[in-house]
Amino acid sequence: MVSRHCAYCLIPLEADKVKMCGGCKKRSYCSRDCQVNDWGAVGQHHKQWCKEQICEEDIDWEIRETVDGKGLGVFSKRLLPKHTRIMVDRGYRKIEDVPLPFINALMPHEGTLQEKWDLNSFYREESGDNLGIRLARVNHDCRNNATNKFITDLNAFILIAIRDIQEGEEISIQYHFYNDISTSKGYRDAREQVIREKWSVNCLESCICRDKVLAERIQKAHELDSMIPTMPMKTEEQIKRVLKNVDLLLKESEQISNGIMALSRTYYDGFQIAILHKKTYPLHKMYIQKYLESCEIVDSKLSSTYQQALKYYQNPSIHRNHF
Ligand SMILES: [Zn+2]
Ligand SMILES: [Zn+2]
Ligand SMILES: [Zn+2]
Repeated sequence: MVSRHCAYCLIPLEADKVKMCGGCKKRSYCSRDCQVNDWGAVGQHHKQWCKEQICEEDIDWEIRETVDGKGLGVFSKRLLPKHTRIMVDRGYRKIEDVPLPFINALMPHEGTLQEKWDLNSFYREESGDNLGIRLARVNHDCRNNATNKFITDLNAFILIAIRDIQEGEEISIQYHFYNDISTSKGYRDAREQVIREKWSVNCLESCICRDKVLAERIQKAHELDSMIPTMPMKTEEQIKRVLKNVDLLLKESEQISNGIMALSRTYYDGFQIAILHKKTYPLHKMYIQKYLESCEIVDSKLSSTYQQALKYYQNPSIHRNHF
């Protein structure tokens, strides 16, 4: 009986052939070679994540056929509470780097390498095209229960639950980022067209992503997000006005957007702005604390982003904005 998969070469393992990572005691391998490869950047860079609480395939979630014929999907095997770090997945920049067993399994089965790449790679404005071999199995849903971020300096995707996910539930993300307030309307519309053509995602008029009122709020939040850095921030009054907008944006993000990712960036903005003036300085504490907490969820503790956040938290005066 197949109980696990090798975390590096992805082959199914029989129960008595499983070799476990001695650190996290969760990740499984077929051989010592695969474990060594997976530890470094040539593989999934498990060294960065072994000490952190990351879910594992076959323990916390599994890849299997969906009932509605979409093909494969990712399903939770237990209750995954909000903000659970579901998976970390290395981003491959070209199809040639993807492990062979996975290339063979990629849709379209009879397709060329280029067709497989086009269908399964994930594009983000900030990082370009990347293919995550497990992330590619996560299907789209406009009412998604998870969200993903590409951590550029670690070259990895991280997938996070944005609400409690019940045992047996399919884990889903949005392919079109329709409520991602950090992107422009033009970008989101173009993205929607791409996913319609590429993955045949056709939403009904009744779908949440077609809601006019929500669309307007998303647009307003996006405008606010773009406006904040351009506002004057010299006097105490000006800074207080900007921070009022930061708080408004945080509130809106919480309600309309894709969760923790949007909030994280805005908390950092609040911190950077509050420390500009002696009078608003005490306000920085809340922002940097929330920012650090969000980094603990969306990043590795070994990453430069997290380490930098920790330094600012411990000593805000090292930031160039400090009054
Ligand atoms: Zn292996
Ligand atoms: Zn480990
Ligand atoms: Zn939709």
